[in-house]
Amino acid sequence: MAVGNLRNAQLIINLKAIYSNIKHAKERLDPDTALFQVIKADGYGHGAIAVAKVAERAGASGFCVAILDEALELRQAGITKPILVLGITDPELAQVAANQNISLTVGSSAWLNRAGQLLQNSQLDGKLNVHLALDTGMGRIGFQTADELEEALGVLKQHPSTMNFEGIFTHFATADSPDDSYFKFQYQNFQDFMAVVKNKPKYIHVANSATSLWHKVCGGNMIRLGISAYGLNPSGGEIAKLPYELQPALSFTTEIDFVKYVKKGRSIGYGATYTADSDQWIGTVPVGYADGVPRAMQGFSVLVDGHKCPIVGRVCMDQFMIRLPKNYSYGTKVTIIGKSGDLEITADDVADYLKTISYEVICGFSSRIRRKYL
Ligand code: PLP
Repeated sequence: MAVGNLRNAQLIINLKAIYSNIKHAKERLDPDTALFQVIKADGYGHGAIAVAKVAERAGASGFCVAILDEALELRQAGITKPILVLGITDPELAQVAANQNISLTVGSSAWLNRAGQLLQNSQLDGKLNVHLALDTGMGRIGFQTADELEEALGVLKQHPSTMNFEGIFTHFATADSPDDSYFKFQYQNFQDFMAVVKNKPKYIHVANSATSLWHKVCGGNMIRLGISAYGLNPSGGEIAKLPYELQPALSFTTEIDFVKYVKKGRSIGYGATYTADSDQWIGTVPVGYADGVPRAMQGFSVLVDGHKCPIVGRVCMDQFMIRLPKNYSYGTKVTIIGKSGDLEITADDVADYLKTISYEVICGFSSRIRRKYL
């Protein structure tokens, strides 16, 4: 997709904010606990390579991504630190991962057997580093019982020259909830699993942002920090209070590119779903659902010159219309996320309006919007 470099619409990414959020997270860790920055989905929409570079400066020891392609993108950009792919990768790609020193997540003995067979017959620059995923209650990927885990450890022992047991981990489903009963249930399961692991791997990791913020005693010697590095509260707005202030890194600004005065009774946009109830000023803004401003944003207020201006009519693919309090000239700044005067719109405000979470909002901005780094 072409990037809109010639259009005044940008995600402004404050790398200093990311740096400071990671530094804060790191200061709270024991000195021997590693921080792996999660930069899947293009660094939660902020730009994976830019985030990787600032995270390295802030003290990240490695990175987590979701898919092998994301790991390869980082290697191609010259990132040499450890990278862990958190999703399941096709075992047929084990050699590619091994040769790029990319660690893979494994959740079954069948996977290890297949990869072991393939690696045995491959030209390798190094061993494949594997992290065993334990399903302690997330119900997504991973070994479900200690027996399954023991079997996998046995398979790994059969392939000492091609596979290295580098890590073991689990993922909590409710670490952001004030009710910690399910968290405790998962943590107990994790400890039961770990009892069968006699030779501990280099990395033991259980903590995402929420776990690292609200469950200090969670074991392990590595954390997988995601959303809080980008300055957002994993629990959304106010559910769980933050132990330190996070600085949101992303703002989204654009401009009014067309202004008109419409008479009472005129309708706006597809489906004519909005009809002016009085004579009024309407501005058009050059972003739409193809940029990640969903149609469900109709009615949400963006900021112009410190005023809240509601989106009127349906959001189109590339444009939307807003009601203005007065005549503003084209080129006037429009803030979709960020500050304008005394007002601020956060990613959580947008998420609340859309009945979703900030993660989905920030990952939803398309590659058509240029990223501008501060
Ligand atoms: N670990 C795993 C396995 C994940 O899937 C994710 C993100 O979804 C993270 C860590 C980071 O989570 P968060 O962004 O909530 O810190």
